[in-house]
Amino acid sequence: MDLYFYNTLTKEKEIFKPLKGNQVRMYSCGPTVYYNAHIGNLRAYLFMDSIRRVLKYNGYTLKHVMNITDVGHLTSDADEGEDKMMVAAKRENKTPWEIANFYMDKFMQDIDKLNIDKPEIIARATEHIDVMEEYVKKIIENGYTYQTEDTVYFDTSKLSNYGILSGKKVEEQKAGARVEFDENKKNISDFALWIKAPKEHIMQWDSFFGKSYPGWHLECSAMGYKYLGEEFDIHTGGIDHIPVHHENEIAQSQGFSGKIPAKFWMHVNFLKVDGGKMSKSLNNLYTLEDLKQKGYEPEAYRMFNFSSSYSNAINFTWEAMEASKKALIKLKEGYAEHRHGNENIEDDVVNEFEEKFHQAINDDLNMPIAMSVVWDVIKYPKKSKKLADLLLKFDTVLGLKIDEMPENAKKEIPEEIINLAEERKKARENKDWAESDRLRDEITKLGYTIKDTKTGYDIT
Ligand code: AMP
Ligand code: ZN
Repeated sequence: MDLYFYNTLTKEKEIFKPLKGNQVRMYSCGPTVYYNAHIGNLRAYLFMDSIRRVLKYNGYTLKHVMNITDVGHLTSDADEGEDKMMVAAKRENKTPWEIANFYMDKFMQDIDKLNIDKPEIIARATEHIDVMEEYVKKIIENGYTYQTEDTVYFDTSKLSNYGILSGKKVEEQKAGARVEFDENKKNISDFALWIKAPKEHIMQWDSFFGKSYPGWHLECSAMGYKYLGEEFDIHTGGIDHIPVHHENEIAQSQGFSGKIPAKFWMHVNFLKVDGGKMSKSLNNLYTLEDLKQKGYEPEAYRMFNFSSSYSNAINFTWEAMEASKKALIKLKEGYAEHRHGNENIEDDVVNEFEEKFHQAINDDLNMPIAMSVVWDVIKYPKKSKKLADLLLKFDTVLGLKIDEMPENAKKEIPEEIINLAEERKKARENKDWAESDRLRDEITKLGYTIKDTKTGYDIT
């Protein structure tokens, strides 16, 4: 079955095929490890995970690189402000290295909690300074740069196609610029490749430019080249990367090899909160720990993300989280019913469901449609192990651990409560409604809730 992805570069949905053989080479822009990842950041990694899982479902293997930015990312994505690692080091009275290690570990824990399938290669910027230095030297040799006293800049006017990803021309950027134009730059879209380190910049290396450090954009071009070559299949990131970071990566690669590094550029839209921006000042920036404190497991957040296509903004509300949590439990119960079912089902029925699901995920990861097929399977009136197996197959894409109950739904039920529930079941079989109600009240008094189901009862 053909697989389609929307390509930001061509602005079209295109058939995807790897450039070489059966292996997909992919690069994802990873986190800047200076703070806890918020659930908006994590949407970007759930998106990356969905691409991986869909590619695997289609029989491809992967060589996938994700970087960890631990140097050079200034507080604005362009060249203004302080290095984010330095800001964090001051805030927490630690060294930038301690900050990087601490938040990188936390990030890894978060992606594990979300059951995100990890890239084959996770590359830290600070462990690739030599790779970046070689890379930048070639861009310089090829004549795409100029230097001021403290910075090596990329000269974007040397490229006829700068702005190819966002569709913005260099001249338009100049004309529309509100920010003060850094006098050292020849063009407003020029950007720093390598920067001389002031004394207080702790992360610095001896290089061709004295004691210095690389600009943020460089790491992705250099590490992408090292692990995936001059041209690879897919590059991912958030939509905020389109106008600056990815544009600059493309510029660097062209300065290095004359080539645009990836064939497909894929971008995930933002998570919003109550319709607005997620930001610290509005106090609506949540982490997985915040969700957990309110009783929502990471997998409920994963489920929530499937309610919208990655290319649309998605609005986070607590009501939507509650709905996702409940839906997830229902999904898992529905799976269990099929697992215990013994009814006979034609293979055609199973194949039709499979085809519809496959079509949905291959249509640029259309998860809302894929989920509607999952619900059709769950609600199928005949209960069969064949459908349970099909759901497990779908779960290789969903990653919801459909065969495990969520932690917060698995309360240990004491024997005393189970005995009361069994007595109540008997009373109901004997149509002794008064006794049944009395036993329900007793169970409630002891802090449990009993609900009747088709097959018996559920206690929570
Ligand atoms: P950073 O760690 O700041 O470099 O960002 C990590 C990733 O999170 C990037 O791919 C961003 O595009 C993405 N990102 C940041 N904020 C949001 C948001 N509210 N919704 C979705 N993705 C986001
Ligand atoms: Zn990047």
